[in-house]
Amino acid sequence: MIKGNFRYIFFDADDTLWQNEEYFREAEYRFAELLSAYGSKEDLINILTEKQEDNIPPFGYGSKTFMISMLDAAAEICGNGFDTRLYHGIKKIITDLAYHEFNLLDGVQETLEALSGKYILAVATKGDLVEQRTKYKESGLDRFFHHIEVLPNKSEEDYLEMARKLEIRPDEILMVGNAIKSDIAPVIAIGGTAIHIPYEVTWVHEIMEMPESDRIFEIKSIKDLPGLLL
Ligand SMILES: [Mg+2]
Repeated sequence: MIKGNFRYIFFDADDTLWQNEEYFREAEYRFAELLSAYGSKEDLINILTEKQEDNIPPFGYGSKTFMISMLDAAAEICGNGFDTRLYHGIKKIITDLAYHEFNLLDGVQETLEALSGKYILAVATKGDLVEQRTKYKESGLDRFFHHIEVLPNKSEEDYLEMARKLEIRPDEILMVGNAIKSDIAPVIAIGGTAIHIPYEVTWVHEIMEMPESDRIFEIKSIKDLPGLLL
């Protein structure tokens, strides 16, 4: 049982409430297939990853930034060989990514049902505003949540600003999520508490060492949350 003065429980969305990362990995794989004449899958994906890192600061997260990154990578890889066939191939990959099937993760509904009414529940996600709000609506989970926060970057500053806006102290934040870099480390750094639920696939951009803290709890599944919080 976690002891604390939590007014809100914040949930990460992608790969905590619903499936996400597999769709991005599949898009990456299709990109490498499309350009397979130009290099190995590994080399092509490495270039795409570099372009993605360059494009996140100016353009943010989400599938539109992924499209810009694929175009940048393809232009670099193919040079003058870049043509409308490749452009439309990339556009198709991104369209399929943006409209992929929607899957809630196992145990999410029951867990939110059990916790709602006992805590104020909110979603704290990052990414493209339109994409994240659309997925939130589509999830049907909005009945459990007070509101959704779409943060630009999930940095310490972003969490502090969120706390100020909601008129809570940073130590009143309890964050639940799969990404150490976004959901755990910044929350711990500002004095909050975090529950880590690892997901089977982690985006390279999100990989970091787990910080040392007695305010971090790790569980295997979201289904273990009520046991920790009720
Ligand atoms: Mg996540």
